Amino acid sequence: MTKDYYAILGVSRSATQEEIKRAYRRLALQYHPDKNPGNREAEEKFKEITEAYQILSDPAKRANYDRFGTTDFNRGGGQEAWGFEGFGGFSDIFEEFFGDIFGTRQDRRTRAQRGQDILHRVEISFAEALQGTTVNLELERRELCTQCRGLGAVNPGDYATCPTCNGQGQLYYRQGFFTVTRTCPHCGGEGIILKNPCPRCHGEGRISQKRRVRVDIPPGMEDGLRIRLPGEGHAGLHGGEPGDLYVEVRVQEDPLFRREGKNLIYEPQISYVQAILGTQLEIPLLEEIIEIEIPPGFQPGEMVKIKGKGMPSLKGGRKGDLLVRPRIVMPKKLSPQERELLEEIARIRREEVSPPGKKGLFSKMKEIIS
Ligand SMILES: [Zn+2]
Ligand SMILES: [Zn+2]
Repeated sequence: MTKDYYAILGVSRSATQEEIKRAYRRLALQYHPDKNPGNREAEEKFKEITEAYQILSDPAKRANYDRFGTTDFNRGGGQEAWGFEGFGGFSDIFEEFFGDIFGTRQDRRTRAQRGQDILHRVEISFAEALQGTTVNLELERRELCTQCRGLGAVNPGDYATCPTCNGQGQLYYRQGFFTVTRTCPHCGGEGIILKNPCPRCHGEGRISQKRRVRVDIPPGMEDGLRIRLPGEGHAGLHGGEPGDLYVEVRVQEDPLFRREGKNLIYEPQISYVQAILGTQLEIPLLEEIIEIEIPPGFQPGEMVKIKGKGMPSLKGGRKGDLLVRPRIVMPKKLSPQERELLEEIARIRREEVSPPGKKGLFSKMKEIIS
C-alpha cells in the first residue's frame, strides 16, 4: 500500500535533508508539467515526487513514515489532511524553490505565538546593591490553563472539522494551470474548529494567575539594569514559547556613599584645622567601620584610596575601591579667641591680614559698585 518515497526520489534511507532537496529539485525540473505539456505520465510522476518530497523534507513526517510506514497524523484524512491535492501542494514547494510568486506564504506553524514579555520594577537599597539580595515579586501573568493544558478544549470531541475547508486548512483556487492555495480564514489553517470551548479559559488555553517569582540580585547591581528571566513571561498561544520576565532594578540613593562605576565615593567634611594638623576618620560601610588617616598638610582635592572596598564587579574580577575625598570647610565666623590666635599665626608668618572691625579694600569696593 505505502509507497517507497526514498526510491521515488532516488535517495538512500540515510539521505540528508540537503540531498533530498537536491534530488527533488532535479526531478521537479525534469517532470515539471510546463515542460511536458499534455504528458499524463509526467504529470503523475511529478505528483509522486512532490508527495515524496513533502513527506521526507518534514522531519516529523519522515520519522513517522520511517517508523510506521504511514503519514497519517490522526487528523483523519490520511494524505489529504496535510493539504496535498493535485498541484495544491506544489505551490508551497514552488515558492520554496522558485521564489514567492503567490504572494504571502501563510504557514500553519506561524499560528504558534510566543507569549509576551513582562517588565517588572523593583527598588532595592544601596546596601542591598552592594551585597546582593533576593526579592520575591508578586505578578500576574497568563499561564497555560490546567484544565485543558493549553488546548482550549477538554475532550477531543470538543473539536470539529472545519466546514469551510473540510479539515484541509487550505482553500484551493484554480488559476490557469496551477491550483493556488490559501490558508483557510475560518480555522486559521488548523483544519479544525473549537465546538465546545474549555469552561475555565473559554477556549483561549490561557488564564491569569498570580505568581510569586524569586529573583536573585547579584552583588554590585547597577541602577536601571534589567535582569532577564527566560520563560517567566506570559505563556504562548497554540504551542508557542513563553515570553521572558525582565526585572528592572532601581537602586535607592545613599546619604553617605555615591557610586562612580565600580568605585564608591565618600565625601566627609573636615575642618581647615584638621586638614592642616591631620586627623582620623571612621567610615561606616555596611557593618564595617573603616578607619583612615588624613595626614597633616592635607590639600583640597586630595583623595585617600582604600583598595577593594568598592562595588563588586557584575562581570566578575576585582572589586572597585573606596575613594575618600574630604571636603575642607572654612569657618564663616570666628570667636574672639580664635581670631586672636589666628592673628598670632599671621604675625609669625608675617602675613598681611585685615584688622578686626575694619573692612578690607575689596569689600569697600564691592559696596560702592552695588
Ligand atoms: Zn478551515
Ligand atoms: Zn482551558
